[in-house]
Amino acid sequence: MMSARGLIVVAFGGNAFQSKGDKGTVEDYWRNAYIATEIIVKLVEEGYRVVVTHGNGPQVGIIAEWMALGLKEKNIPPMSLDIAGAMTQGWLGYILQQAIYNKLRERGLFPSRVRGVVTIVTQTLVRGDDPAFRDPTKYIGPWYSKEEAEKLAREFNWSFKPDPRGGYRRVVPSPDPIMQVEINAIRELAEEGYIVICGGGGGIPVVEENGKLRGVEAVIDKDLDAERLATALRADTLLILTDIDYAYLNYGSENAKKLTVVTATEALKHYEEGHFKPGSMGPKVLAGIRFVQNGGKLAIIAHLSKALEALRGESGTRIVPG
Ligand code: ADP
Ligand code: MG
Repeated sequence: MMSARGLIVVAFGGNAFQSKGDKGTVEDYWRNAYIATEIIVKLVEEGYRVVVTHGNGPQVGIIAEWMALGLKEKNIPPMSLDIAGAMTQGWLGYILQQAIYNKLRERGLFPSRVRGVVTIVTQTLVRGDDPAFRDPTKYIGPWYSKEEAEKLAREFNWSFKPDPRGGYRRVVPSPDPIMQVEINAIRELAEEGYIVICGGGGGIPVVEENGKLRGVEAVIDKDLDAERLATALRADTLLILTDIDYAYLNYGSENAKKLTVVTATEALKHYEEGHFKPGSMGPKVLAGIRFVQNGGKLAIIAHLSKALEALRGESGTRIVPG
């Protein structure tokens, strides 16, 4: 199925499932997902092909909490982090898949414009010798006392660090994504007129050893993974949707300044000056820079509720070649 307007990779942040103040009930998930996926349906109406990706930080945290409870109370062995990542891809993929499907049918866009909506359990290749493995930085799961942390560290070979907010938390490496193992399936389905949801949570991190894949205890940044996806698919636009309307210079200070259009070179300069916090805005800006450096024409960072305006250039930060 041909589309007139090319391909957009849309990356949803945490607010697509849980907005500020929500408890995170099942009803919250569905309500937010129906709101978030409105943009996907509008893009289809406007003639775009769409590939969707999403974060999973809170959900991996919840699974880690559930595992901690099971461990404590029922002696149920914990699953590894790659398996937890796979669980979140099914969990969130299912919700997006059903919300998008129902909306497409309601608008009369299925099966005439879109042949189906599918979630792909996606493995993301990382390097076994990525320096991130020597220095785990990403906090996940519950807070523990020093004694509990030491016991779990011995038992499961997990790493813990004191959290600046108190207590001890598990830390895992966040290696740089190289590519999605399932990229050919993603590309072919997208070209054939399917909406593909993939790379959830940055993808399940795997390394290749002697021609075999193996999952590793790590989490990949979903924005950096979205760039890999958009670049591999030669997407026209990488649209990163989050809970803030622009990337700002001097964020949080009195002379904060929103960025409307920046070249990759300018954005890199701001990035290196430390304007964007690591783990939140930092990877979004870096993803945008990498996308245009790798041949993409436009990366946009925008508020979820301003997605259409952002595509028209009326909101959001646009990173362009140059
Ligand atoms: P998501 O779940 O969408 O990935 P994040 O919390 O990871 O959301 O990133 C968005 C957050 O980045 C904003 O809510 C904001 O607090 C933070 N942030 C850090 N630095 C900046 C900046 N320079 N400009 C705008 N937002 C920033
Ligand atoms: Mg984030």
